[in-house]
Amino acid sequence: MRRDAAPSQPFTTLLIPAMALIVHKYGGTSMGSIERIRNVALRVAKWHRAGHQMMVVPSAMAGETNRLLELAYAVSVQLEPRELDMIAATGEQISIGLLSLALKELGVGARSYAGWQVPIKTDSTFTKARIIEIDCARVQCDLDAGQVVVIAGFQGVDGENNITTLGRGGSDTSALALAAAFAAHECLIYTDVDGVYTADPRIVDQARRLECITCEEMLEMASLGSKVLHTRSVEFAGKYRVKTRVLSSLTDPAMPLEEEMQSGTLMTFEEDKTMEQAVVSGIAHQRDEARIALLGVPDTPGIAYQILGPIAHAHIDVDMIVQNQSVQGRTDFTFTVARSDYARALDILNASVKTQIGAHQVVGDPKVSKVSAVGVGMRSHVGVASTMFRTLAEEGINIQMISTSEIKISVLIDEKYMELAVRALHKAFALERG
Ligand code: ASP
Ligand code: MG
Repeated sequence: MRRDAAPSQPFTTLLIPAMALIVHKYGGTSMGSIERIRNVALRVAKWHRAGHQMMVVPSAMAGETNRLLELAYAVSVQLEPRELDMIAATGEQISIGLLSLALKELGVGARSYAGWQVPIKTDSTFTKARIIEIDCARVQCDLDAGQVVVIAGFQGVDGENNITTLGRGGSDTSALALAAAFAAHECLIYTDVDGVYTADPRIVDQARRLECITCEEMLEMASLGSKVLHTRSVEFAGKYRVKTRVLSSLTDPAMPLEEEMQSGTLMTFEEDKTMEQAVVSGIAHQRDEARIALLGVPDTPGIAYQILGPIAHAHIDVDMIVQNQSVQGRTDFTFTVARSDYARALDILNASVKTQIGAHQVVGDPKVSKVSAVGVGMRSHVGVASTMFRTLAEEGINIQMISTSEIKISVLIDEKYMELAVRALHKAFALERG
């Protein structure tokens, strides 16, 4: 396909077929001021002039979604999720209008769409809605007519025509879902970092940008706290095999397309067998975790469901779970939740712990963090866990809980030691810039 590109497109011949549909997603920082929105417009115009069909999905301007939600919190403590979405969705609506105007200023035909106008249909789980279906017809007409289409990220519409949002950071998911629905050639996620790093560069100064990362690793990294991509967006990329690149929006918008296409981090679908695979590709961390333990739980069938059922019912996500060996018919049951859900989860359990569950006590710690080593190379190497545990032991860091998958090992530790653990592990797995 690439080799068939028209020879009259010097910038794109090597990398992208002519007239390909390209999706660009710009985060809040990239849209953070009028100046930056102008830069976004310059970049999009460059791609459009190279002959591509362009779909652009911006986030709200930096800080805007927080500001909108604070307004809501200031008015009411009875947070009605439907109204929260009504308010929060306006941030992206401003962005699409401004970006369309900025494109028109450059002489590029552009048209903005709110989620409901596409429409991007979702379920009715306000504040965390899931995309069910995207109707391509209306937008496709504009694309075919050569218009740049600017679609609001983060929002959709449910079966009753209510405006919904996809959860914080959800514009990535909008972009990848749109790229999948329109079978885009590539989805470029422009952000304030220049790619995916071996660890958060704010914690580890020796952190290194990865040229590529497998979709599986990215999924683990995203769900383990790397803030680069919204987890569900990676699921879309993986399921529909959307070619996705994470790159910086803070570079010169006039930089040659060819160079731009080689910057950032490319998400791949298979391990590159020709390259020597690092055992561990990155260290992820999640600072804001909380641990809850039920002590003296009767060890009978159905007990895990009795404990976690009401938690799930309240839409609280549970992460790590450990049930101990029972002693004289009683056991301890420990799990983690996001720190923001800690108080609510405790309230739910306190109401039922003695009466329904018959446990002795519920205790918790809202100041724990999770640190994980991720890498597809773990499948074919042994000893990753022991290196990890030895490193933490040498730093005197106590491990409270452990969980593993084929390509990751996570430990729960005291929040105080989180940064130390990330640095030590980054070093132990030789991930530094070399
Ligand atoms: N504006 C939304 C947020 O701040 C969505 C996004 O930026 O992806 O969470
Ligand atoms: Mg984001």
